[in-house]
Amino acid sequence: MTGETQPIVEGRLDALPSIPLGVVRARFASGDPSHAPEAERLVLSDLAMAASVLRLANSPVYGRGGTITSLDAAVRILGAAVVRKIAHSLASLGTSTLALDRPRFFEHSVASAAASRALARRLGCAPPEDAYTAGLLHSLGQLVFACGSPDRYAEVLRRSAAGNRPLSEVEKEVFGIDHGRAGSLLADRWHLPGPIRDVIGHHMRGAEALESLPGGTRSLVQVVAAADWVLSSNGMATCCRDGKTPPKVGGKDLTAEDAGAALEAGRDMLRETLALLGLPGDAEGFVEQVRLAEEGIGAAGPAAAGEGIALEDASGLMASCLREVRSAATAEEAWEIGLRGVRASMGVDRVLFYTYDAERARLDLSRGLDDTGPLRAGDRGIAEFPLAPGGALAHSIRDGQPAIVDDLGPDADFLHGIGVARVAAAPVDVLEKTHGMLTVDNPFTGRPVGKRDAALLGLFSSQVGLAIENLLLQKQTQKLRSLAERDELTGVNNRRNLWALFQRELDRSRRYGSVLSVAMVDIDFFKSFNDTYGHQAGDEVLRTIAQVLVAASREIDIIGRYGGEEFVGLLPETTLEQATIYAERLRSRVEMRGQDLRTRFPKTRPLTISVGVTQAVPQAGDDVERIIARVDEGLYEAKEQGRNRVIVKPPPQAG
Ligand code: GH3
Ligand code: MG
Ligand code: MG
Repeated sequence: MTGETQPIVEGRLDALPSIPLGVVRARFASGDPSHAPEAERLVLSDLAMAASVLRLANSPVYGRGGTITSLDAAVRILGAAVVRKIAHSLASLGTSTLALDRPRFFEHSVASAAASRALARRLGCAPPEDAYTAGLLHSLGQLVFACGSPDRYAEVLRRSAAGNRPLSEVEKEVFGIDHGRAGSLLADRWHLPGPIRDVIGHHMRGAEALESLPGGTRSLVQVVAAADWVLSSNGMATCCRDGKTPPKVGGKDLTAEDAGAALEAGRDMLRETLALLGLPGDAEGFVEQVRLAEEGIGAAGPAAAGEGIALEDASGLMASCLREVRSAATAEEAWEIGLRGVRASMGVDRVLFYTYDAERARLDLSRGLDDTGPLRAGDRGIAEFPLAPGGALAHSIRDGQPAIVDDLGPDADFLHGIGVARVAAAPVDVLEKTHGMLTVDNPFTGRPVGKRDAALLGLFSSQVGLAIENLLLQKQTQKLRSLAERDELTGVNNRRNLWALFQRELDRSRRYGSVLSVAMVDIDFFKSFNDTYGHQAGDEVLRTIAQVLVAASREIDIIGRYGGEEFVGLLPETTLEQATIYAERLRSRVEMRGQDLRTRFPKTRPLTISVGVTQAVPQAGDDVERIIARVDEGLYEAKEQGRNRVIVKPPPQAG
């Protein structure tokens, strides 16, 4: 924890316990988290769940830089499965040390949310969904105190009630700041959007204090404060005891109708929430019903948090993942297999990979995998993290060793950026340089990662580094080889390689008796095209036609540039009949492309090709020269007969 919150709370605040905890636990904590469809709806009425979901959706990994204010949007970004996992984990947190009157606080936040939304709608002064979120979260700071320093906060609440003194006054006495400030500090660290953070920070300030806020934010704060006032004047608890007179919204007084509508919306929402939790009763009995349910269930104690996967299983899974990684054909494939394997073998929510920019001392999020699916740099948010000097990440890179990184040290900003308090990290070295950094963490289940996670990740990162190294070297050799084999202009096989491949295919056909057909293509009237548009435009067209030929062929077909504007297609396992269909396809595709090109090259006749086709019959004495002579003859006849056509030359009879 950094800055101002450090001295005011004693415990860490990685997650806040869910407010209707006993009830939620009964529903989520016992079984498989996937069996809890209500979790998504409960986000809308539980401050802790809403804050967790918003925090993650707004972290650079998923969100768009703290702009997600609507809870529906946040749920959509993370997906139902993730929300259920979060609900499951919040329901597993301990309760005994929370200072607040949980049911009353729950009532306060739910009713405020609905009442704020109703007022925003009626008065048209703020986006209703923002008002809902702001209303729900505005007392976040009380949870900060109640979870972080339960004993001191219990004393604050007692003193405020006994002396009938404003809560904020006593909070300041004890903590140096009030819960508005405490909440906005946490909101800041959790990347909650500005307007929501401002409501949390300012909801208990007087009218003058709001003057400095931008207009939109000011109305939002006023709406929430007004809703608070309406509820407390109707016997519902408020988080600030200093609201004697009704606050103005946008310079106007609240009418009795406004207040009535807000109150009704609050009560409706309380009724809905009871129904959602499977509890009987009406809005008036909300607190009592929740309290009864809590007492009935609360004794059970916190559910055990997931332990991850047993060590032997994890090592076995990791070993088979690493074998697959080593045999991957591309770096892309190696990563895909690897990230999946890490998640499965370690039982973690998320694995992320950052490339390391040594010059700028920065980690750039490059890819990852979690319950929401694969994560890609730039897909969802910005993610560049300066490397804190002296932090555990910097050490890990320097020593080439895995590490546990937590937010008590210099890496706090990095961790807040990705929305967790703790990760296991391991550098990936490629060719003796740090290529990047891998981290695993549990933003959804909340299970703290430990030394074992770091060790397993270290094992994986060293192997993945080697795999990438091998692939890089392979790629280099391939590149050198392809320089010798490919035609520079069109990228298809050059004449020399075409000859070698032709010989190989012919041998194969002779040996196995498999069929082989051959097509030869020549562009029609290409000289006049060159003469009209120049050699460079001609080159471009040659490239285009080569692409059309490749696209019209199968993977096993071999396309080569035979000479200037002549191409040859070698078609293994292809009868003469099939080859004729193939040749016709080439011809018609080029003709179509030629029509497309007319707009650019209107002065010459449309581009077309002529094609000669035959089948190779090595058993009848066919060799490369004879076959070429035959397709060439077919080509000549095609030209003779008017071009833009296919001529089939029958093969010699075997035997
Ligand atoms: P047709 O085949 O229909 O009888 O007429 P054509 O005009 O295409 O005649 P031919 O096949 O004999 O002409 C080949 C022309 O292709 C000559 C040259 O202008 C052009 N050519 C050959 N190689 C290249 C090349 O690498 N780049 C460019 N731009 N043009 C080439
Ligand atoms: Mg030619
Ligand atoms: Mg030609």
